[in-house]
Order: sequence, then C-alpha cells, then structure tokens
Amino acid sequence: MGEFDWEGFDMVVDAFLQNRLARHNKMSVRLSKKYGILDPPTVDILPHSRRGKCCILGFYSRSDNKIYINKHYLGCINMNTQYREVLKHELMHALSYQRFGIGGHGKHFKDICKEFDLTRRAMARCN
Ligand SMILES: [Zn+2]
Repeated sequence: MGEFDWEGFDMVVDAFLQNRLARHNKMSVRLSKKYGILDPPTVDILPHSRRGKCCILGFYSRSDNKIYINKHYLGCINMNTQYREVLKHELMHALSYQRFGIGGHGKHFKDICKEFDLTRRAMARCN
C-alpha cells in the first residue's frame, strides 16, 4: 500500500466542514426570521474548542454578532436531528442580547427558550 495522502485527507475534511458551516449559515438566517432576530448572526468555526478544562460546543459573540461552533461537534453531529440544537441555543443568546441586552443562562434566556419550545437538550448549557 502507498503512503496515506494526508494533504488530500485534510482537503476533504475542510470541504466537509465548510459545507456544514454553509448549511448552518442558511439555517441561522431562516431561524432568525422565525425567532424575530433582526440581525441574523453569522456562523463560524470556533478557533479553540476548549476554555481551560471546559469543552465548548458553541459560543455567541455580541461584539461581532457571530455564532462560533466547535469543529469537532460540527463534524460529528447527525445533520438530520442534532445539528440545530447548538445553533438554536446560540440564537437564543443572540435574541436575549438583542431584546434585553443580557447574556448568560438566566431567567430571560430560559423564558425565550420556552417561548420558542426549545428541547431541554437545546436549552442546556453550551459548555
Ligand atoms: Zn449558552
């Protein structure tokens, strides 16, 4: 057997992640309309998937209105059932911030999650 083509492998993985990212961006626009988020966040890949000992699935950044998603999560999720959960969770942070100017997982966040019938798993913490 010849040597494994790591460069080709990296290109395939990269194309795969970009494809999933593009699908998340389309979904962000569609769901933002549904949730009444006036300025739909752009979705991008998290540069670091850990903060200390904590593993981060997703993160909403207020300063640039962006949702960052863990690339390992992005690569492993089942696109049919799970892929909306982290995205929905982060969109609730965006809405909470745009409506109340408040971040975190407090009362406003929980109320918004209930308003849009998020599953308990989607409501759970993002890290
Ligand atoms: Zn969160």
